[in-house]
Amino acid sequence: MTGVSLAGWRAFEPLRWLGAAAPAAAGDSRVVRREAKPRVAVVGAGAFGGWTALHLARRGARVTLIDAWGPGNSRASSGGETRIIRATYGPDPVYVEMVARSLRLWREFQERSKRQVYRRTGVLWMAGQDDQYEKAALPLLRGAGLAIEELTRAEAAARYPQISFEGVAWAIFEKDAGYLLARRACQAVLETFQEEGGEYRVAAATPGPIGAGGMGPLSLSDGGSLAADAYVFACGPWLGGLFPDRIGERIRPTRQEVFFFGTPAGDPRFSEDRMPVWIDKGERLFYGIPGNEWRGLKVGDDTRGAVFDPTAGDRTPSAEALRTARAYLELRFPALKGAPLLESRVCQYENSPDLRFIIDRHPQAANAFIAGGGSGHGFKHGPAVGERVADLVLSGKAPDPFFALSRLS
Ligand SMILES: Cc1cc2nc3c(=O)[nH]c(=O)nc-3n(C[C@H](O)[C@H](O)[C@H](O)COP(=O)(O)OP(=O)(O)OC[C@H]3O[C@@H](n4cnc5c(N)ncnc54)[C@H](O)[C@@H]3O)c2cc1C
Repeated sequence: MTGVSLAGWRAFEPLRWLGAAAPAAAGDSRVVRREAKPRVAVVGAGAFGGWTALHLARRGARVTLIDAWGPGNSRASSGGETRIIRATYGPDPVYVEMVARSLRLWREFQERSKRQVYRRTGVLWMAGQDDQYEKAALPLLRGAGLAIEELTRAEAAARYPQISFEGVAWAIFEKDAGYLLARRACQAVLETFQEEGGEYRVAAATPGPIGAGGMGPLSLSDGGSLAADAYVFACGPWLGGLFPDRIGERIRPTRQEVFFFGTPAGDPRFSEDRMPVWIDKGERLFYGIPGNEWRGLKVGDDTRGAVFDPTAGDRTPSAEALRTARAYLELRFPALKGAPLLESRVCQYENSPDLRFIIDRHPQAANAFIAGGGSGHGFKHGPAVGERVADLVLSGKAPDPFFALSRLS
């Protein structure tokens, strides 16, 4: 079974569903619709769904993007101000290539849309005593043509005197890496999608009935339904609940807290002009972003928290996570000892068991597709993930086994 191939459109089997949803003269309307551009419904306007919708629309599909609460909303995994874009991915060439591609697409998007979504601060990746991950990353970064520097601990300390490099063995500096303006980027992708002819609706969608190898129309929270030739579900941490049998616990949302600390008045040392984004891969991975749209110095702990309900979970920050973040802040930035907490956020990762994404066709519905499992590192990949999903939907290419659901069965 192939996907919605524009060339092979007549052979697209799930058109039976259109017949079922079409008015009396179903036979005639099918002929008309077979000639038309494919209609695709994309559920979820986060980093994965927004980019999927944009790529599909740019390739000629008629796309309706649907979101229950809006692009980069405060419940979504793509919510909040900032996300890191970096390409150091240990021995994993797939992600390095995807970051290189996404970086290009984010920059092109920024240029073409005149909307700021990317800040080039560089990313400093600090290696701990066990540096196999970083050593494996170096040839891949170079192979992908990314501009990097290897810094000894002494070189890094001389360049960034505001950081204490205690426990750091050496560092990789990725020159073109930096951060993305998360919720604003989701909004910008949606606006661009609409300007280019895409339709956007606010509603909660329920997957349509599955039968005869295809999915039928979505049910919407406003009481209506939406029929399309293909359906994409990019519903982040909600995917398990939408597809309890096929996804279920294969995507496990976990509570993640981030904290924003205040720097001294008029002190430029912790601004993005003087400091890069950093990732500290010691025994416990911490990361942070300077400046952050003037929200303060962001500190995040990548350790997975407790299982979290993305709809109704309590987003009050915990004293324990704040203590951990503060202890880390004081270790790496001694001048910020006792810095006031300005803001905090409780978000969730949507983890797959191996932390790889899921980009696949629904095993029982050839016209339904799933994109998710960002697992704490998905945002930056939005453009490349969207491109892969659009390929899957429109060209009927086989899913990449690296991201296929079957690996998790
Ligand atoms: C604290 C934190 C830090 C992170 N740091 C980084 C980082 O530095 N770099 C990086 O690359 N990644 C990072 N990530 C991961 C990244 O943000 C996520 O993997 C990515 O944003 C997931 O995007 P998504 O589109 O899959 O999901 P989401 O952003 O959650 O989007 C899903 C959308 O679907 C909608 N939806 C769900 N169900 C329905 C329904 N039934 N009907 C209609 N709409 C529905 C929701 O409203 C939502 O808008 C981080 C995540 C967190 C939480």
